[in-house]
Amino acid sequence: MAILVYVEDHEGEPVKGALGVLSKAAKLGEDVAAVLCGSGVEGLAEEVGRYGAARVLVADDPALEAPLPQPRVDVLAKLVEVDGFDTVLFGASVLTADVAAGLAARLDAGLNWDLVDLELEDGKLVGKRPALQDSVIVDVGWKREPRLALIRSGTFEPAESGGAPEVTRVPVEVQDWSAKAVMLERAHEESEGPSIEEAEVIVAGGRGLGKPENFSLVEDLAKALGGAVAATRAVVDAGWYPYPTQVGQTGKTVAPKLYIACGVSGAIQHKVGMQSSGTIVAINKDPNAPIFEYSDLGVVGDLHEIVPKLTQLVKERKGS
Ligand SMILES: Cc1cc2nc3c(=O)[nH]c(=O)nc-3n(C[C@H](O)[C@H](O)[C@H](O)COP(=O)(O)OP(=O)(O)OC[C@H]3O[C@@H](n4cnc5c(N)ncnc54)[C@H](O)[C@@H]3O)c2cc1C
Repeated sequence: MAILVYVEDHEGEPVKGALGVLSKAAKLGEDVAAVLCGSGVEGLAEEVGRYGAARVLVADDPALEAPLPQPRVDVLAKLVEVDGFDTVLFGASVLTADVAAGLAARLDAGLNWDLVDLELEDGKLVGKRPALQDSVIVDVGWKREPRLALIRSGTFEPAESGGAPEVTRVPVEVQDWSAKAVMLERAHEESEGPSIEEAEVIVAGGRGLGKPENFSLVEDLAKALGGAVAATRAVVDAGWYPYPTQVGQTGKTVAPKLYIACGVSGAIQHKVGMQSSGTIVAINKDPNAPIFEYSDLGVVGDLHEIVPKLTQLVKERKGS
């Protein structure tokens, strides 16, 4: 297999999910290359090589400055055609979902998405994809090459394997039609601490908080733990907290080491977005809340009493 892994960059860093996919690819095959597409990204090549890429291909051009999909599709289509990659893997994100779909259309290739694992079975690549609200895992394959796959965010942890990659600049030829879309504005959301995709600790708030102002309780706990704040759809729909923090079927999938759910009932649509978390702690006043069925530690009680005390305790232990 000749595998190409698309490594997205954000604010001058390779994205963690992409490095995780690269680490997984390195375990599947020896001929693993990574491609960086952007403007001023060449400096990231050495770091990317440490996560298992024997070769790092660098498409570094001002035409790739904005995070728009079509110019990236041009670069990847050319690499598949010229270098003969038979497999292209992406860590799922808003950008890569568009790039992978565009590449599938351009190459008339099969794209399997939302995969949570990849295995070689009798020398054949098999993707593992959750179905029926994540209650079963189905095997998926490809009828022909190239095989394209989007891996669910947070699936694979990046693992450094060392090694100095061969770094090659690749030519960037953007088609006329690919340059038609332009980025008019990029707004930066002001937030403190890590994003929920990257955070090792997440404190999630649900309708049990009672009112939007009470999100300060989960914010304080998340801050004390150096974590990020997440929300359920119920509170996002009610306008209590912004959509980018929603975890679940119609939100994000996260896998932190610790997930603390405060006033969250634990509906199946929420569970599918956080069930891969390392340790799940739930604080809920209803002992029959579904979240207790899949929590490692359950605290039955009023979050308004428990959460501030927990925050205080964490601060004391940390000496802050
Ligand atoms: C197609 C579809 C997609 C969906 N996608 C998502 C999704 O992506 N993410 C998502 O989260 N949901 C999603 N939902 C909604 C989901 O079904 C639930 O309605 C939602 O997750 C419930 O949110 P909640 O836990 O905040 O609220 P509730 O279900 O109202 O739960 C509130 C909990 O707080 C507890 N509580 C109340 N007061 C206190 C207190 N003082 N102290 C401690 N505990 C207290 C209650 O006992 C209760 O268990 C989706 C639904 C559909 C139909």
